[in-house]
Formats: sequence, C-alpha cells, structure tokens
Amino acid sequence: MKRIYLVLAAALTFASAVNGQELKSEAFDLLNLDRKGLEQVKIAHQSGDDQAAAAALLEYYRNRKDISTPEIQNVAKVKINKEQQKWADEALEHKFFSHKGYQPSYFYGDDIDWKYWPVQDNELRWQLHRHKWFMPMGLAYRTSGDEKYAIEWTKQYIDWIRKNPYVKISKAEYEITEDSQLKADAENARYAWRPLEVSHRLQDQCLQFQLFIDSPAFTPEFLTEFLVNYHRHADHIINNYSKQGNHLLFEAQRMLYAGSFFPEFKEAETWRQSGVKVLNEEIEKQVLPDGGQYELCPHYHLAAIEIFYKALQIADLNHFRNEFPQSYLDKVEDMIMFYINIMYPDYTNPCFSDAKITKKNTMIGHFKKWTKVFPDNQVIKYFATEGAEGQLPDYLSKGFKDTGYFVFRNGWGSDALQMVVKAGPAGEWHAQPDFGTFEMWYNGKCLFQDSGSYVYEGKDPEIMEWRKWFRATAHHNTLVMNNEDVDKVASETLLWKEDGDVQILVTEHPSYKNLTHRRSIFFVDNSYFVIVDEAVGSKKGWVNLHYQMPRGEVPNSREDMHFESNFEGGSNFYLQCFCEDMSKMTMTKNKGWQSSDYMKKVQRIDASFSQKKDSNNPVRFITVIVPKEEPGSMNVTAKFTDGGYSLSGLSVQVKVGKNKKKTLSYKL
Ligand code: MG
Repeated sequence: MKRIYLVLAAALTFASAVNGQELKSEAFDLLNLDRKGLEQVKIAHQSGDDQAAAAALLEYYRNRKDISTPEIQNVAKVKINKEQQKWADEALEHKFFSHKGYQPSYFYGDDIDWKYWPVQDNELRWQLHRHKWFMPMGLAYRTSGDEKYAIEWTKQYIDWIRKNPYVKISKAEYEITEDSQLKADAENARYAWRPLEVSHRLQDQCLQFQLFIDSPAFTPEFLTEFLVNYHRHADHIINNYSKQGNHLLFEAQRMLYAGSFFPEFKEAETWRQSGVKVLNEEIEKQVLPDGGQYELCPHYHLAAIEIFYKALQIADLNHFRNEFPQSYLDKVEDMIMFYINIMYPDYTNPCFSDAKITKKNTMIGHFKKWTKVFPDNQVIKYFATEGAEGQLPDYLSKGFKDTGYFVFRNGWGSDALQMVVKAGPAGEWHAQPDFGTFEMWYNGKCLFQDSGSYVYEGKDPEIMEWRKWFRATAHHNTLVMNNEDVDKVASETLLWKEDGDVQILVTEHPSYKNLTHRRSIFFVDNSYFVIVDEAVGSKKGWVNLHYQMPRGEVPNSREDMHFESNFEGGSNFYLQCFCEDMSKMTMTKNKGWQSSDYMKKVQRIDASFSQKKDSNNPVRFITVIVPKEEPGSMNVTAKFTDGGYSLSGLSVQVKVGKNKKKTLSYKL
C-alpha cells in the first residue's frame, strides 16, 4: 500500500502548541555547517549539544545582515497600513484574513480548525493556507514592538505544522480506508499542500523570518522547527511543480526566494537554479511572440509580468542577473507593451477571461518599478509618470495576432475612443469561450464591459452555477446559437488593417460543429464601429447576437432594434442592429451582471438580437455602434449590398447621422 507520511499528526490543542516547540535536531543535517559563520554551530552540533548549536544558529541569523528580500530591505523602516493592522489584530482573535471576496473574515475557533470551510469555494479553503495575515502580524510587531504579535505568530505557525500533515494516499486507499483521521488529513492536504499555496508560504516565510527573528518568542527550538518546515516546503515544490500556467511561474519564482534567502541549506543552490531554469523555459512557452501570456487574461498577464520582474529583482539583490539572458528581458518588455496597448486611458483593464479590474494607483506603482528595469523605454516612462516624462507610442491601433487581442483607437487620452477585441487561440485555464467579444472605451468610461468572472470553482453548487454564468459565451458581446457555449478552439484572423479611414478586423471562429461565426469589424473615420456577424453552416436553431449593456438606464426600442445610453458625463452610445429581413429579427432583454472583483457583482441588461436559422442559408447581422457625448437618439441606416454571403468578402452600406452614405467592404 502506497502511503506517505511526512509528518505524524499529533493531537495537540492550540493552547499547548507554544509549549509544543521542539528542538529538531534534523535541522542541522539540512544545513551546510561548513559555511562561513556557522563554525560555532558545527562545533556544538558535533559535540552532541544541539541546544547550544540551535542557540548559536539563532545568534548567527540575528546578526546576518547581508541578505534581504525585495520587499523588506531594512526591517527598521517597515510601515503598516490600516488594512494590514486590522488583519493583524483580527488574527489575534483567530479571525483569519484569507480572501477579500469573503469579508468580514471568518472565526476559525479558539482551538484553530484549519479544516473549517464556511463557504465551499475552493479559493477560500486554498487561500487560508497562504497565511496572508502572518506578514501583517510581523509588520504590527515591528512597528509597535508589542510581543503579543510574535508570541501569537509562533503559536499559530506551530499549530499549523501539527494539524496540517502532508498525507498522500492513493485514490483506491482513500475509498476503502476506515481510518477517518487519515481520510480527513488526506483530503485536507489537497488544499494545505497544493504547490501554489506552498510556494506562497515559501516566499512569505522569508519576510516573516526577517520581521520576527529578534523576538524572544523566536526561540532556538522554534528556529529548528522553522527550518525543518521551510526545507519541507522547498522540497515539496521541487518535487511537485505544477505542470504549466501561472501556477508554475509563481512556484519557480518563489524557489528563487528559498535559494537566495536561505543559502545555508545544502540544497539552496539546487533550488535557486531550478527556479531560474523553469522561468527561462516557461517565458518562452507562456509568452507568445506578440508579448501576450497564453492564458489570454489581462489579470494573469499582469501577474506573469510581476513574477518575471520579481525574479530579476531577487537576481539583482543576490548578484545572479546574468543567469537571465537578454531575450528574457526583451520578453518582459514586450509583455509590458502588450498591456499598455490593451489598457484604457484611466489605467484600468479589459475584464476578459478571469480578469479583475486593477486600479490606477496599483498600475502606476507597477510602471514606476518597471521603468527602473527598462529606463530607455520612453512609453513605460510616460505611464510611470502620468505623462510628465517619456512619450506615447507613435501609433494608434495595434493588433496582437498571436494572442488574438486587437485594439482600435483614435487616441491615447481619456477622451479617446478605443475598442479591444478578443479573438484568438483557445487559451489556457483562465481563458473563457468568448471568441469575438469586445469592450469599448469612450470619453472617460468603459462601455460594453465584459461580464468578468466573479468566482472560480468549489464544491458548492451555487458557486459552480455562478462560475458557469460568467464564463458563458452568451454573456459576452458576441454571437451564439441557442445560447449554447461555443467550442473552445482557436479563431482565425482573416484580415487586420490597422490604419486608414476604415480599419478592419475579420476573424472567424468554428463556433460549433456545423456552424462558423465570421465577425467583421469596421472602424470608420476614427469615430464609429460597424460590426457584421455571419453565422454559416448547416446547424439549425436561434442565432443570438448578444450585447452587455452598461449599468444604469439604457432606453431601447424593439421597433427599430436600437439601444441608446442616457448617461451624464459625456460618454454615451447609440447602437442599432440590422439584418436582411427585419421582420425576422427579435430582441430580448435578460438580466445580466458585471463583476470587476471576486464575489462582487452589479446587475445590468444582457440584450440579444435573434434570427431563426432553419435552413443551410447563412444568417447575417449588421450592428452600428456610434459613441457620442450627448444622450439620445440618432438616425442610422445600414444594409447589405453584396447580394448575399460570400466566403471571399462582403459589402454593406451605412449612413450615420448627417454623414454621407458610406460603403464598407473587403475582399479576401
Ligand atoms: Mg468574460
């Protein structure tokens, strides 16, 4: 029977945990005692006095001044903000800050129950094991000098070790065992020992070590417990790296912390090299040639930049920058330029895939750091200084064909008109089946904002229902049949023309077996958009063209199939939908949602225009979207002028307001 017990779960209560600190002699076997500074530790250990060896080791670490982390380079100068102080104080009462989406923080019991799972959302349970309140406790300790934070931290740290053993059993054994404790521990280890969480602790424990090391509560015994536990974490990751994606990046970057911050471990160099190797390999795999990260999600794209950047910071602090080639730096710079292009003038981002909205202050903080690594890049400098220095790009619209992000814009300022279209590869885990969808920024506001993601996954059926709702193709600004999700396969870019009076994107997605969606977007005179959607193939049913309306009142009419916004502040739009036989089109208004952050959502309208497809003939729509400052209606007409669908191109005629009639067409 395959069974791995790395730690035996001792039935300790929380109250006894602090006294449960044990001198772990095995700590000395993990260290290179020939290292300079550890002479006294070695002598004591070899003479069999591990108590004295542990005391000497603690003395060594308290006096070690040449190693720091990017976050804390001088412990005497750390500060704490209000939120961190709150998390630190709540932690004293065992109310643990695990997730911003679940506030106020839950109480985990006087005798901490690390298996407590008040809402069965996986994130809540996983993230409990990131110990996000430990670092704030360290900041509270350093800024106040109050020992209560240090005492409590050591108690919780030991309590966690005792109650969260790494237990791994086979599925078959899990099914048949009658040992309920074994079962519960094996189940729990899936959360407590998921490599992403382990890597989070691996990084943060360096900071905790810096903050608490001088406290009397940080005893020689505790130090040995800490080192054994820390070693187990690094060892766990190097043997259990995630297969791919942002998780693997996080894990590799955090191995750099382990290898750099604790060079006393015999395996430190192996850990560091492993992190460097994975990052150098993965930047080639995960960053597409145009600079987009392959999960196709602005949030994880940004997270990946931060990971690659942080690795450079650690390398600089520890003098191994030369292990990252120039091509690594070039890729990071490409990723930043990608982000700058898809970002809106107020520094917020499209809410595509599993993205949340990143706030302006956070982004400026990122740009300020990045500009130090890329001082010659004038565009990064421009965004770091809010335009005081540097330069804007010397172009407007820009297509990223590998990632499938296409940006139309008429300017870079807040009054700009900007449309970001997502139509590319299938994408990895965080990507949604949202092919052809778009967001539009106009004059200070994002209109047609993506629905977002709201939650990830969990055991609670309600969580999964919401997950499904926000991912659904029909809850984007694109075309579906029978409101079913489309197949998650790559789109093909048939045409991308990013300059001139009429800029064009033509993209095609094999949405379902026997139904292909071709979307053609015309950006006309730098002032409005005409979108032509064609559903082609033998699949039958209702073809639904969805648009997610902004929050608030959006007057509309079924008479002529239009929506017009009615907002103060100069950012409005007029949208009207046309087809070949208007008597066959219907309009539906359903309840829609928008989520900019985890577990936060606001209601809005999910509008759709539908035509029945009861033959092999293609079904086609024309949508005209005119951004404008004033609310209210306007005269718009549009019609097909090509005599019917053709594989090789199309032609439509539009008239917008008082403008002359305009023919829009292309040939492939
Ligand atoms: Mg979405």
